[in-house]
Amino acid sequence: MKEGLLKLLQLQAVDKELFTLEEAKEKYPAEISERQREIENAQGHLIDLEATLEELEKKQRHCEREIETGKVNLKEHEERFAVVTTNKEYDALQIEIEACKSSLSENESQLLEAMEGIERVQGQTGEEKTTFEEIRQTQQGRIDELQSQLNTMQEQVDAVQKRRKKVTKDIEARLLATYDRKKGRRGVRVAAVRKGACGCCYHQMPTQVRMEVRSGERGVLYCESCGTIMAWDEQSD
Ligand SMILES: [Zn+2]
Repeated sequence: MKEGLLKLLQLQAVDKELFTLEEAKEKYPAEISERQREIENAQGHLIDLEATLEELEKKQRHCEREIETGKVNLKEHEERFAVVTTNKEYDALQIEIEACKSSLSENESQLLEAMEGIERVQGQTGEEKTTFEEIRQTQQGRIDELQSQLNTMQEQVDAVQKRRKKVTKDIEARLLATYDRKKGRRGVRVAAVRKGACGCCYHQMPTQVRMEVRSGERGVLYCESCGTIMAWDEQSD
């Protein structure tokens, strides 16, 4: 019986690998999507900044055109001083010139605002690009790793299954059936005793039961707390 239980422990180790692979197969796709979202979010910030920059550059060009037209306009008005004949005409021209000047100065201050904005956003874009590149590299690295794991998952499972077959070959049919019937916590169906406790749930065992597991004479024994099959190996105490 002791020998059989030791074999079950070997089988358990193999099954643990299978369990981990199955778990990965389920978890990796979600993790990949999560990491892709991180990249997209970071890229979103960058795209927003680039759109803002484009708006500001548009505003800059608009102001520059307005200023150019405004200057020509002002010059034309000023030239009309030479041809006005009455005070009334003179006053009216004066008012128009004031209007030209104020529109010009409004456009100039807007141009300045746009240029300051451009400088600020360019700075932010530079920082954001660095951040994005860092995030992209980190996330993509892990995504590639997960993806390649997923791509070879079946191969990995097949290889472990092959080893499982080898291990089960030497286990007595009834014992194997007992093992296979168990559900197991996180895939653990058999565990060795550790420091007088169940190696699965760490429940302290009565001395009597511990002795029985050690001798292996009473057949298969279970942890009274978690129901795991108890075994005794060279590290049990
Ligand atoms: Zn237990």
